[in-house]
Amino acid sequence: MSSNFNENFQDQWENWAWQLQNSLTSVDQLAGLVRMTHEECAALRETTKKYPVAITPYYWSLVDFADPHDPVKKQCFPSHDEISYHVSGVEDPLAEEEDMVVPGLVHRYPDRVLMIVTNICAMNCRHCTRKRLWAGGRKGFSRDQVDEMFAYIRSTPAVRDVVVSGGDPLMLNDENLEYILRNLKKISHVEIIRIGTRAPVVLPQRITGDLVSMLRKYRPIWLNTQFNHPKELTPRSIQACDRIISAGIPVNNQSVLLKGINDDPVVMKTLCQKLLAASIRPYYIFQCDPVAGTEHLRTPVWKGIEIIENMRGHTSGLAVPTFVVDAPGGGGKIPLQPGYLISMSDEYLVFRTYEGRIIRYPNPNNRFDANPVVRS
Ligand SMILES: *Cc1c(COP(=O)(O)O)cnc(C)c1O
Repeated sequence: MSSNFNENFQDQWENWAWQLQNSLTSVDQLAGLVRMTHEECAALRETTKKYPVAITPYYWSLVDFADPHDPVKKQCFPSHDEISYHVSGVEDPLAEEEDMVVPGLVHRYPDRVLMIVTNICAMNCRHCTRKRLWAGGRKGFSRDQVDEMFAYIRSTPAVRDVVVSGGDPLMLNDENLEYILRNLKKISHVEIIRIGTRAPVVLPQRITGDLVSMLRKYRPIWLNTQFNHPKELTPRSIQACDRIISAGIPVNNQSVLLKGINDDPVVMKTLCQKLLAASIRPYYIFQCDPVAGTEHLRTPVWKGIEIIENMRGHTSGLAVPTFVVDAPGGGGKIPLQPGYLISMSDEYLVFRTYEGRIIRYPNPNNRFDANPVVRS
């Protein structure tokens, strides 16, 4: 191979449009790369009819084929369980559609809204909480629809925080993304903009110099991404995050707790420590929602509490995310953590320390305030 070929290939590999054009999007393509029986192929064809496959060459390059339980492969490679394993999953357990004030805009909490600006992603995560949006094909950005969202936000002064999500908003080209940011920036009561994207993890090539110089004009922007396993923190993805952070845009991480992928205290602690080493702040660990098509990846809720128990006190407090369960029906996020308070009275509280010691803590109380004891 000539070095020219290698240079060209390197250029192509670094081009995000090339990554998308060369994504794996059919079972036939997968069958050419992974040994599968006819029955397995047929099962996956049936699966991907409902839940299509899309994997960037970059993300696929992280798969370790020697590992039958590879955590990268499990997040991108379809499984027949998506259509055969069913307990209680529904399409929209968080009732996002009901909380939509205009199409694509979810206003659930008093002071912040969630904008769904596209249903397209670089990669179709098998555990996607918005799998319902996959039906009916890929729907890109519509200027009319976001204009309606701006109108709502403009007329709702309580909204001071706008989460731009999808799909993946970084699937928009820079011009369309800038259209959104510029219009949000014009609304005086919008104090911060957040971008929810998995591009740094599945398509770090998307984080171009041009993109970052555009984004920095609209600060304060906070970027939330989703690393689920330490293997995903590659030098390439760390470089992409570093570029964002260097532009004054903090990167926070929201992991999803996934069976057989990261439902392990050691894996999660390692992930969070490595995130901190990359200047990324672990923000949330989400309990996997009861979404139809993802139930085979759900874990018991106590797994998340066990993970926090193994981190709090044992490692940097900055590394400890908040474990949350999103309440079905649109109740919002509920934080869960191990119990450290055993009992309390006016005189004492009884605590458990992170090492399991029981301690008594005097409770300052104002029972005697009317008649203070003055020491002579
Ligand atoms: C998660 C979420 C937010 C943001 O919540 P924070 O706890 O502020 O990160 C906003 N709107 C909706 C609908 C959400 O699900």
